[in-house]
Amino acid sequence: MTQTFSKVTAIRGMNDAIPGPSARWEQLEGIVRDWLHAYGYRNMRTPILEHTRLFTRGIGEVTDIVEKEMYSFTDSLNGESLTMRPEFTAGMVRAAIEHNLLYDRAQRVYAMGPVFRHERPQRGRYRQFHQIDVEALGMAGPDIDAEMIVMAARLWKLLGITDVRLEINSLGQAAERAAHREALIAHLELHKAVLDEDGLRRMYTNPLRVLDTKNPAMQEMANTAPKLFDFLGEESRTHFDAVCARLDDAGIQYQLNTRMVRGLDYYNLTVFEWITDSLGAQATICGGGRYDGLIELLGGKPAPAVGFAIGMERLIDLWGQMQPETTAPAECDVYIVQQGDEAQRRAAVLAESLRDEGISVVVHAGSGSFKSQFKRADASAASIAVILAGDELAQGVASVKMLRQSAAPEEAMQQQVPLDSLVAFLKDKV
Ligand code: ATP
Ligand code: MG
Repeated sequence: MTQTFSKVTAIRGMNDAIPGPSARWEQLEGIVRDWLHAYGYRNMRTPILEHTRLFTRGIGEVTDIVEKEMYSFTDSLNGESLTMRPEFTAGMVRAAIEHNLLYDRAQRVYAMGPVFRHERPQRGRYRQFHQIDVEALGMAGPDIDAEMIVMAARLWKLLGITDVRLEINSLGQAAERAAHREALIAHLELHKAVLDEDGLRRMYTNPLRVLDTKNPAMQEMANTAPKLFDFLGEESRTHFDAVCARLDDAGIQYQLNTRMVRGLDYYNLTVFEWITDSLGAQATICGGGRYDGLIELLGGKPAPAVGFAIGMERLIDLWGQMQPETTAPAECDVYIVQQGDEAQRRAAVLAESLRDEGISVVVHAGSGSFKSQFKRADASAASIAVILAGDELAQGVASVKMLRQSAAPEEAMQQQVPLDSLVAFLKDKV
């Protein structure tokens, strides 16, 4: 009797990156690390799982993320509520406080990795996605606010991405938001009839976020609402103007978007988003801002902070559209074709000697006809095939064949090379 097993598939909204497409991910990660190093940012790695209360406190109870997007569960061992990180900032700040990183200096730190949100999957919106998260802890700005924006612009340039625009806003300080809040609630009460379920629920708990709606029926109400920007005092305006002046210095264009709120509750002063017109509805590739209250809110000594996060899936999608030519690297430099037990063993030893010289090598595994082995060698995109087999091997020679078009015509033919000079010969060719 034979048993059949059903396939187990990935969870909806959680993607694999298979060999081929994954090359772009690796390439991006390399570029990103160099780019961050150019600004003195250092890597931090925090756990994917954190206490749920870190996020309810750090992101805010009345936000999309905390209200409906978190993957939370109860740890069956001790009954604690745990959550898969839906973003990096709260965990980064927790770690900075826990390890006392800010006691005598400011910190420029970054992290890169998966985050989790229970959203409806569609292009550019997944349940597991990846962020590049960049945080400047302990610096009050506006110089550092501007540096962060300029730095994002440099990444777009490094990747050859042109179709992005910058929107910025200022959320002022708590007192300014309180004054605006009263005027805003009055406006919302006046337009109660057009508010949707989220709008009605948030009207008194988080009225600013009612304006962040994507509901078309609420746009008119949101457009005519009192603007927080008009409630900014002199200090907040000076901060904002100073950021703008530095963007002008860097030749970066921006647009003031007085309706931009951003996801976290504790943003203040500068907030910004980089938006593209090439990705359809999921248009924001990078969002960030200042969150001077968060470190204290999470139990640290009060200190200012500013940061941003880039959605890597959206960035890769956009990058691929703008630079479709970026080619995947070859699997290896040298592919060794071999036949027979003796040849297979010699191939394994030769491959190790080549790797000692920094050459990447694949030895054909198992057996197979020369034809099928050469097919694999070609598919590997190796520049050289080495053939070990039969009489040649017995005479102490191998055949070498250049596989790429760039090879001179006479080299493209097979040539014989003595085994004892093979490593030196190949070192010269790759
Ligand atoms: P959106 O308005 O698109 O839901 P957001 O304000 O929730 O975005 P942030 O919390 O600021 O997003 O996250 C930073 C970046 O992460 C976004 O600008 C976006 O590029 C990316 N991002 C957010 N949610 C998702 C998701 N579900 N799938 C893929 N990328 C995402
Ligand atoms: Mg969202």
